Amino acid sequence: MIVVFLGPPGSGKGTQADILHEQHGFFHFDTGSRLRAEIASGSELGARIEQYTNAGKLVPIDIIREMIKRFFSASDAGRIMFDGFPRNLEQARVLDESLLEHNVKLDCAIYLEIDEDSLLNRIVNRRFCPQCGDIYNLQSNPPRQAGVCDKDGAALIQRQDDTAEVFGTRLTVYLHETMPVLEHYRKQGLLNTIDGDFDIGEVSKAIVELLGV
Ligand code: AMP
Repeated sequence: MIVVFLGPPGSGKGTQADILHEQHGFFHFDTGSRLRAEIASGSELGARIEQYTNAGKLVPIDIIREMIKRFFSASDAGRIMFDGFPRNLEQARVLDESLLEHNVKLDCAIYLEIDEDSLLNRIVNRRFCPQCGDIYNLQSNPPRQAGVCDKDGAALIQRQDDTAEVFGTRLTVYLHETMPVLEHYRKQGLLNTIDGDFDIGEVSKAIVELLGV
């Protein structure tokens, strides 16, 4: 089963994808984390990527295309979930072509719809564990001990682009570039909308019911 998660920054895609991974064995393909890992490696490519992520802009298509190509040629996962990809129509076409080439099909595109006013609040309160990648929210889903990951005790950090300033650009990019991707999947009869304003458990239940996993 192959699933795509769509939604604005802060809509809970990563959190829900982590749940699907942990409880339902989905392979979580997350372009944002992969890009951050490349930056952390200190490579030349990472330095190029960082200019875009720090500004809240999409990294160029050649970098994403290469990432997708490598993933498809190495993956044999039965359940895959794409989180943070595709981010524009050009990327949606790259995914369509890759699926066709590997003789597999997309089963479902899930759009996490959320009240725009709550997004900034979610973003500035988001923290993540650099060790296991778990995501927390200081208000709605805080760690048991302040600043420390429940799972492995690592110090939680805030992403460099999770600031009010960068958020504005990320939301604009989302509205102009990613929203048309919804229409792309609606036309293919694959788009399903889930209300992302409920709490984490309820949203997760709705997703699991929709997928029938
Ligand atoms: P995310 O972790 O999904 O919030 O992504 C963080 C940042 O990584 C974005 O603001 C972009 O700069 C970059 N990024 C993530 N996924 C993509 C993608 N599919 N295409 C281009 N840029 C991306």
